[in-house]
Amino acid sequence: MTGAGFAARAAELDAADPLAPLRDRFVLDGDVTAYFDGNSLGRPLRVTGEALAAFTAHDWGSRLIRSWDEQWVELPTVLGDRLGALLVGAAAGQTLVGDSTSVLLYKLARAAVDGAGGGRDEIVVSDDDFPTDRYLLEGIAAETGRTLRWIPTDPDGGVSVEQVAEAVGPRTALVVLSHVAYRSGYLADAAAITAVVHDAGALVCWDLCHSVGAVPVALDAWGADLAVGCTYKYLGGGPGSPAFAYVAARHHGVLRQPVQGWFGRSDPFAMAAGYVPAEGVRQFLSGTPPVLALVPLRVGLDLYAEAGIGAVRAKSEALTAFAVEIADAAGLEVASPRDPARRGGHVTLRHPDARAIVAELWRRGVVPDFRAPDGIRIGLAPLSTSFAEVASGLGALTRL
Ligand SMILES: *Cc1c(COP(=O)(O)O)cnc(C)c1O
Repeated sequence: MTGAGFAARAAELDAADPLAPLRDRFVLDGDVTAYFDGNSLGRPLRVTGEALAAFTAHDWGSRLIRSWDEQWVELPTVLGDRLGALLVGAAAGQTLVGDSTSVLLYKLARAAVDGAGGGRDEIVVSDDDFPTDRYLLEGIAAETGRTLRWIPTDPDGGVSVEQVAEAVGPRTALVVLSHVAYRSGYLADAAAITAVVHDAGALVCWDLCHSVGAVPVALDAWGADLAVGCTYKYLGGGPGSPAFAYVAARHHGVLRQPVQGWFGRSDPFAMAAGYVPAEGVRQFLSGTPPVLALVPLRVGLDLYAEAGIGAVRAKSEALTAFAVEIADAAGLEVASPRDPARRGGHVTLRHPDARAIVAELWRRGVVPDFRAPDGIRIGLAPLSTSFAEVASGLGALTRL
């Protein structure tokens, strides 16, 4: 099919897209004509600015410190429960927001490793996982005298159930894996992998950064132990917005997290002597929650409540399939799974001149991501990306 053919197809796909009207809720001003980085930094919603202004005027400006009692102390778990129910399949009382993904991953992984029984001295991780995950686990291994067992991972794919089965055993304390691989977009079989890890007597921590808000997640149904994820990617939380953590209820009061600040203490405002963990998932909090930084996430979750994650996933699959079709027609190498069932919300193309191509596209208002050494990552945030955008942006790439 030609460029004009794809543009016509895109128009049909947009006309038939039930989520298309939601795109206008986003700030779409500026010189970017095709934004392929909504999986890395989501676009803001138009109401985000209003919500921040209202927060400054009312919750902060008028209610002042009374807002702590009125709503802020509970905010980490109120928003956590909402996110848990809407997007990650977590029953109430197991999800919180606060800290960055890196810090939350440290806290949960350290708790799991410390809590593992004697002889369990290995942490299993993919050698192609997102860098912060690898670095954090290297640090935890060094601190605790554990060893990392690296799963060699195909950069165009991801970690299979069989690979995990081979890597785990009586020495495994914890397995940390990304649900959707940040490079290839590979969607792991989380339910099967969780079962394999449990059969070996170990715990699993899922990194949901590239899946939350693009693909359905079912932490309770999988039987997951722990999970962390970003809110500034698909969820529109804004640059550096706080992350979320999930700890299955059966681990509350059993696992002990390492950053025992006052917000994770039972009755923090008693200011009493000695640390006593709070009840429930609050024991995984540390310091004062980043209340201001959570305002955009609240409105981002409102939009997901309206759209529904099922419809979001359906559009995401259609967007990535369309991108693969255009890439194939142009003879570009696709470095992502071809099976839509094994693919998350982005598609990576491989090209020896990837760095220069991405730089040139950015100059032209087309914004994919460069992934060293030779990847052009096309992130397709389902709520803010149109099929026309895919056709025009990839058209610009193929004409370079
Ligand atoms: C984006 C991302 C992170 C980011 O962690 P921060 O602490 O927010 O910098 C972690 N893990 C994965 C898999 C990611 O994609």
